[in-house]
Amino acid sequence: MRILALILSLTLAGCVTTPVVVATPTAPRPAPGPVVTRSPTQAAQSFVQVVEDVMPVARAACNARTQGVRCDYLVVVDDRMNQPPNAFQTLGRNNQPVVGFTLPLILSARNDDELAFILAHEAAHHIEGHIARGRASARSGALVAGALVAASGGDAIAVREAQDFGAFYGARRYAQGFELEADSLGAVLAEQAGYDAVRGIMFFQNAPDPGTRFLGTHPPNAQRIANVRRVVGR
Ligand SMILES: [Zn+2]
Repeated sequence: MRILALILSLTLAGCVTTPVVVATPTAPRPAPGPVVTRSPTQAAQSFVQVVEDVMPVARAACNARTQGVRCDYLVVVDDRMNQPPNAFQTLGRNNQPVVGFTLPLILSARNDDELAFILAHEAAHHIEGHIARGRASARSGALVAGALVAASGGDAIAVREAQDFGAFYGARRYAQGFELEADSLGAVLAEQAGYDAVRGIMFFQNAPDPGTRFLGTHPPNAQRIANVRRVVGR
């Protein structure tokens, strides 16, 4: 597996929302909060090992569960230290699935199980087709909302505003469900790759909890942890 260190300037919602202060070589991370327990070299070696273990399992699952979808994942690292700890999945050139990690996320993971779980979670988003399903949901949300306002006599501006809100609402409506789906499949993939998914999702135990915010993109941390425990039967 080739790992590229590249600068990604994609406007994406990442999957790991952990606005923690990131340690830099000159600014030790303050306690409490996630603590960097490994040197950058150790963290990099761990990440390479985790990619080598998890991605063949993810690729096989992708091939088995999808049709007409590329499964040749590209794993990339955004090596800017001033980025928040984050991971994401997107589609690259010719719809190649791309999974990205920021370097601060790699450094803030406390163990290989956490790295493996997050990597498997991102790979699972692709297998579950969440990008396409999110777009479809946004499109149908825009259609329905625009049609409702038009039917009630709204002018073009009102229809347009309704379409924008409908698209936003449509995209958000399923976001939390997508996260739980990615957690569930990701847990299975991580365990198949030899990692402990319950230990892995504990990464989120100390992360800021998105709570039950209306239209939030992520479920509460406790719900995610309970879901993974259930999936792996613990
Ligand atoms: Zn996610």
